[in-house]
Amino acid sequence: MSVPAGQHTVRRHNLALVLGVVAGPEPLSRAGVAARTGLTRGTVSSLVEELIEARLVTELAAARGGPGRPASPLRLDPRGPAGLGLEVGVDTVGACVVDLGGTLRVRRTVASDHRDDVPDAALARLAALAADVVTETGLPIAGATVALPGVVGPDGVLERAPNLPRWVDVAVGPALSTRLGGLPVRAGNEADLAALAERWAGGPPDAVVVSGGIGVGAGILLDGTLFAGAGGRAGEIGHVVVDPDGATCHCGGRGCLETVAGWESLTADRPDAVRAAGRALGIALSGAVHLLDVPAVVLGGGYPRCGPLLLDAVRAELEARVLTRAGVEVRFSALGPEAALQGAATAVVQEVLADPGALIARP
Ligand SMILES: [Zn+2]
Repeated sequence: MSVPAGQHTVRRHNLALVLGVVAGPEPLSRAGVAARTGLTRGTVSSLVEELIEARLVTELAAARGGPGRPASPLRLDPRGPAGLGLEVGVDTVGACVVDLGGTLRVRRTVASDHRDDVPDAALARLAALAADVVTETGLPIAGATVALPGVVGPDGVLERAPNLPRWVDVAVGPALSTRLGGLPVRAGNEADLAALAERWAGGPPDAVVVSGGIGVGAGILLDGTLFAGAGGRAGEIGHVVVDPDGATCHCGGRGCLETVAGWESLTADRPDAVRAAGRALGIALSGAVHLLDVPAVVLGGGYPRCGPLLLDAVRAELEARVLTRAGVEVRFSALGPEAALQGAATAVVQEVLADPGALIARP
């Protein structure tokens, strides 16, 4: 039987509506979902059956004790299609699996230095690690996102990574997809994915989230969504100039933030390295705050390991430079150095929740 195209669209929309309500904090039965969405009970039941068959939703045993017919609460199926997060760092590769309910099931990071390396060997190492974590969880995988330490265009191509000079215009997603049996693999900038992870963990909707490592990047959150810029390149704060006469940067420029606040300078055996990094971060961030009017700054990646000395230096610099009366909240991320990896896996889960029909329609 053929169905008019409009009905397909409505059904797809309603699948997302029902799944969104089931994913909410309150456990609801089919009747509860109908009341919440305004759909008929018959429609909800048919949609729920489809979601159960796709292993996106599971129905728990009925709760006893109350008056009337006991209601069976629905919830996201923790055995359902999960998100695979992958990361190519400057000197690591990582992989993790986040289930449909947002729980991190397994995460592994191994040393793998790419500063003088061509992409092929690293991608083979990463694909092997990915296969390991997927086998370990035993979960079906809906897709993957790979976090990359450089400029990723809207087409998912890693255009340039200043710390990985031999990685130029690399289509990392398709290369990994081939190695992972055709699994859809998207690519994103690591700082952007770390910023999204921050937001999904309940972080502020308007913020600059700085990711500190060998390179320094930022994700910009405006009104709860990522601001990627016209070409997906926004947030390259590591290459904002903080000292025009400063040291030469890997990007070819001079006096970039990364030359003072990147991991190699920060951990150098030099008095006041942390204070100097904090001051440079504060200078670059005051520019970002003035341009974007964001009330919050989150310092992630390796920065929390530097402790209050770094935080105090950033705060002092912002207080001295930023004009807003309310001030800017500056805090460390609580997600740890693998925030980008977790964000990459959660991005897949978020996409499934936003449009389960796309996954169900997949051959
Ligand atoms: Zn630079």
